[in-house]
Amino acid sequence: MMLILYRKGWYRMEELIASLCSEIEYTGHEIGDGIIYIYARSNRSKAECPQCGCLSSSQQNHYTKRVRDLPIHGLKTEIVLDRVNYVCKNPECATKTFAESFSFFANSARRAHRLDSAVMKVALKTSSVAASDILKETTAGISKSTICTLIKKNPQ
Ligand SMILES: [Zn+2]
Repeated sequence: MMLILYRKGWYRMEELIASLCSEIEYTGHEIGDGIIYIYARSNRSKAECPQCGCLSSSQQNHYTKRVRDLPIHGLKTEIVLDRVNYVCKNPECATKTFAESFSFFANSARRAHRLDSAVMKVALKTSSVAASDILKETTAGISKSTICTLIKKNPQ
């Protein structure tokens, strides 16, 4: 069992994942090359079509979605999520298949919302160049241009 010190308390990895999103569950983790890979899967049996809002329990396939999250103990952290594609059964709907969505990242994003927020806090107090420098040890994929894009999308 791995215990993580996070926000003034000790947590088991299962609890850490549950705090991120109630609709996923921890299945394991490994550490390699300075990155903690946390494996998780959806615990839902149905998902809502983003187009028509109909619930579907018809699963087409599973695939791996990788989402960078806040670093843990100074290590880059990546959630390796087993994500499900569903079939929309509504004959009136133009969407045939869709990926289930989760509250902790935007559908096409590769970073968790909370990671983007943490990056923005640093970038707004320094500069995109300094923020990229400060964060590169613990936050993979955070280049100066990524930070500039984040600032443009979220003007404060
Ligand atoms: Zn639909």
